[in-house]
Amino acid sequence: MHTPSRQTLEGWGRYPRVDSDVLRAESRRDLVSAVTSNGEHPVLARGLGRAYGDAALLDGGLTLLMERLDRILDFDPETGWLKCESGFSLDDLVRIFLPRGWFPPVVPGTRFVTVGGALASDVHGKNHHISGSWASHVRNVELLKSTGEIVFCDAERNPDLFWATAGGQGLTGIILSMEVRLQRVESGAISMETTRFRDLEEFLDVSAAHVDWPYSVSWIDGLARGKSLGRGSFMAGRHAPAGSKGKAGLLSKLPRALVSGRFLESNLLLNGLSARMFNAVYYRKQFSKRSRSTVSVYPFFFPLDAVDRWNRMYGKRGFFQYQFVVPPDPQHLALKQLLTAISESGTLPFLGVIKEFGTESHPGLSFPRPGVTVALDFANTGQNTLELFTRLDDMVADAGGRVYLSKDARLGVDAFRRMYPEWEEWKRVRDEADPLNMFQSELGRRLGLVGEMPA
Ligand SMILES: Cc1cc2nc3c(=O)[nH]c(=O)nc-3n(C[C@H](O)[C@H](O)[C@H](O)COP(=O)(O)OP(=O)(O)OC[C@H]3O[C@@H](n4cnc5c(N)ncnc54)[C@H](O)[C@@H]3O)c2cc1C
Repeated sequence: MHTPSRQTLEGWGRYPRVDSDVLRAESRRDLVSAVTSNGEHPVLARGLGRAYGDAALLDGGLTLLMERLDRILDFDPETGWLKCESGFSLDDLVRIFLPRGWFPPVVPGTRFVTVGGALASDVHGKNHHISGSWASHVRNVELLKSTGEIVFCDAERNPDLFWATAGGQGLTGIILSMEVRLQRVESGAISMETTRFRDLEEFLDVSAAHVDWPYSVSWIDGLARGKSLGRGSFMAGRHAPAGSKGKAGLLSKLPRALVSGRFLESNLLLNGLSARMFNAVYYRKQFSKRSRSTVSVYPFFFPLDAVDRWNRMYGKRGFFQYQFVVPPDPQHLALKQLLTAISESGTLPFLGVIKEFGTESHPGLSFPRPGVTVALDFANTGQNTLELFTRLDDMVADAGGRVYLSKDARLGVDAFRRMYPEWEEWKRVRDEADPLNMFQSELGRRLGLVGEMPA
């Protein structure tokens, strides 16, 4: 086993940054030995570091990089059940399985995540209204506990621990492997329909009209106010039938990043003028009122992956993504209040997306709940950004909604407890699984999810 090296780590939003001992695990033996011989030092598993805030950060402890534990352990071509190690990435999964006619059951907006990270965040995708989130498609998890014991969690064995681990942000133990069910697809193409909407009401009408499409998401102009509040562009998609638009090419061709954000590292996205220009141009030019097309899965599911390390474009201070969900409400009062507060604040968002979640939700700290979710990117311009978020937190909690922990770096304990009333039950299961409080993270400490390790 290699010795750990001291490194500065950050999340995708580049805020905050911490120093940690970092070990790239090569085998499960490395993991067991790191956990059992680590004495009083806390430990955290880290996938590809795509959580925006501090979920994958541990100040002063031992961070275990999981990406080398990426073996496929079993695959049943009759049913689509895949057993793999937790460091297996969705990038590799799509690259290996799409040419064979299989696709992940759920994908987030980037393919550079591990399956372990996907379960620890219980990620959702454009098909939440039909397929739910990642954990809905997992039947079995192998978990390494702080005692060094390896346990199986599924519907029969340790079901509470299974649901505490799904969305549990790495705080119940180290996910070693899982069985996840892939879906069959006939091609690597997506038939897509785009519809522009003028306001929030029109968004909900268009969304209702496309409810039987397996995938949907919308870009929203977070700066629009008054009569245009909530305007944007709705994208619906479904896997195209065999033979669509050069099946072979689309199935196997992997796009390279077109440009690297590293070279654009500047404060390009920091000022309000560029935010206004971006949103206005996007609304007018990007989409005609209604259009149909067939595209590869890559631009449809992972448009931002075309710019390698695009997070650098926000400069060294980084950025935040504020993602919330509020319950269904025929009058959309909370949604209107939130969007108005954002567009009228001096703190302007760049990219925004809006989507209606389906009815499925999971216990514990899993984020998706029935209702409408909105995610907006804000440059970190200091105190005013944080103050805006605190005001939004109150509105979200008052409405019975919640913010997404995998995107968060600053939520306070009180607001968190209002948003996640199941936190106590989740913590009971976690504390039982990890009585030593070995698994810690900055997010876990900030939100009071973990206690101190015994001295
Ligand atoms: C551009 C972009 C788009 C995104 N779009 C979406 C989206 O549409 N929907 C969505 O739900 N999320 C989305 N995300 C968030 C992302 O999917 C999640 O944060 C995911 O968890 C990242 O996976 P990762 O492998 O990078 O994990 P990391 O970021 O490294 O870690 C995330 C959490 O998982 C834990 N973890 C990782 N591996 C293990 C393991 N083996 N055992 C135990 N715990 C582990 C970590 O401790 C940490 O708490 C997006 C992120 C980006 C950057």
